[in-house]
Amino acid sequence: MSLLQDIVIVGGGTAGWMTAAALSTVLRGRYRIRVVESDEIGTVGVGEATIPMIQRFNRVVGIDENEFLRETGGTFKLGIEFVDWGRVGDRYMHGFGRLGQDLWSVPFEQYWHRMRALGRAQPLEQYCITRMAAKANKFMPPRTDFGNSPLADIAYAYHFDAHLYARYLRGLSEARGVLRTEGRITHATRRGEGAHAGHVDAVVLESGERIAGELFIDCSGFRGLLIEQTLQTGFEDWTHWLPCDRALAVPSESVKPLTPYTRSTAHRAGWQWRIPLQHRIGNGHVYCSAHVSDDEAAATLLAHLDGKPLADPRPIRFRTGMRRLAWNENVIAIGLAGGFLEPLESTSIHLIQQAVQQLLDFFPDRGFSAPDIAEFNRHSRFHWERIRDFIILHYHLNQRDDSAFWQACAHMTVPDTLREKLDLYRSHGRIVRRDNELFSEVGWIQVMEGQNLTPLRHHPLAELRDEPDTVEYLEGVREVVAKCVAFMPDHAAYVAEHCAAKPAPHPA
Ligand SMILES: Cc1cc2nc3c(=O)[nH]c(=O)nc-3n(C[C@H](O)[C@H](O)[C@H](O)COP(=O)(O)OP(=O)(O)OC[C@H]3O[C@@H](n4cnc5c(N)ncnc54)[C@H](O)[C@@H]3O)c2cc1C
Repeated sequence: MSLLQDIVIVGGGTAGWMTAAALSTVLRGRYRIRVVESDEIGTVGVGEATIPMIQRFNRVVGIDENEFLRETGGTFKLGIEFVDWGRVGDRYMHGFGRLGQDLWSVPFEQYWHRMRALGRAQPLEQYCITRMAAKANKFMPPRTDFGNSPLADIAYAYHFDAHLYARYLRGLSEARGVLRTEGRITHATRRGEGAHAGHVDAVVLESGERIAGELFIDCSGFRGLLIEQTLQTGFEDWTHWLPCDRALAVPSESVKPLTPYTRSTAHRAGWQWRIPLQHRIGNGHVYCSAHVSDDEAAATLLAHLDGKPLADPRPIRFRTGMRRLAWNENVIAIGLAGGFLEPLESTSIHLIQQAVQQLLDFFPDRGFSAPDIAEFNRHSRFHWERIRDFIILHYHLNQRDDSAFWQACAHMTVPDTLREKLDLYRSHGRIVRRDNELFSEVGWIQVMEGQNLTPLRHHPLAELRDEPDTVEYLEGVREVVAKCVAFMPDHAAYVAEHCAAKPAPHPA
């Protein structure tokens, strides 16, 4: 077997440095890894909310949680609060982790559906520890020393400062032997002949320096320097399902309490994120330029901040969709170079992690096996499409009648894969997680119920237990959840004790 030697990562944003950190950890100095980035071009500078899977990345890379949060001004995240999504005035939380406690072979929510229909169940959130803890601004990591308690089920993620995160990962990667070159790449060159004719063989900098490689990871952001500008791979556009195409981002002053959740508030033609960090709040308005002007979007954003803005809103443009191939020739696109899905469920950093894992699973030798590449691309497409469906769900499942934007979303034709999920839920409240798609039954039910989709019937086997017993069982779960939340410390107090940030992190 002929092992390749030189890996070139083009771009030093979150994608570039996450890839460098993971590869330098796993490949243990056996490969040369170089990151090329341009200070002048900079990074997109957003991407500050995550999902619990990031803990797995941190474990692989050997990141100490408290140190990492101190260095990035980070906080903990138990879920996402959605405001005004189903109808104006609605509010629900998508909490991470488990819901209730399963009994026999029927999922917990089926008993809840049955009792709710009889008016004998409480709102779904009361059976979920992360939702109730988030509402109470409580946080602690899971504890397994209390036996079979919901305290063992606390699933969480992080909020962090995107610039500080890239800087932190850079330090870690360089300490593990990754070389960094600063400079603007003007173009790439390709092999003209031989076994791998068409492969990229080098990138050329403005200075004239030529950096050769065998495997190129394109982390150059939206421009897709290698995957698109050089290889012209093509882009699959999903804007007919997800029509938002612009964002304005603005930091604001911190306010109390320090909430352990991201907030997403729907507006007339888009939505606004709120990400609490230790030293500031990250905010942004994602919107559809066909329905709202930039000035109106900026005014809406600024009118909905909790604290004073710390800068002018910064515009970002995007197109939702994915590259036709994530891996083309000897180039793998990771991060924004691979495509874009809006950050409604904080999935982009996860997709970077997923791509890096796939790269390790299908790591090439000099042969660049076509079946391996095809399988890598199948996996990528599967993950992107399933997350896309979940995002579309939020838009489609609305009963708002206050704007043409929301009505168009409610009436659009959704992908078949999403239609099947909606039909299945409507019929008997069932949710089927296909293969290893990212979002579990617990995620889907929270959004579907939160946006007012109620099944017509429940699972027939939820009738096997008699009514008083079922009420008692639900009540038991609810009481235990409430007791556990009462036991948990305040989020701000936990952060102050374990991972308070150094005095002057990056301001925005
Ligand atoms: C509005 C918005 C909000 C988001 N919020 C979230 C969120 O909450 N959670 C989440 O998970 N994700 C979020 N994302 C996505 C997240 O920001 C990105 O996935 C993440 O930052 C990775 O970006 P990147 O590294 O691919 O690209 P970038 O940050 O754009 O980095 C590109 C790199 O390539 C370099 N480069 C480009 N061209 C050249 C060149 N010619 N020569 C040399 N270097 C070059 C740049 O200098 C830079 O280092 C959001 C994205 C947007 C647009």
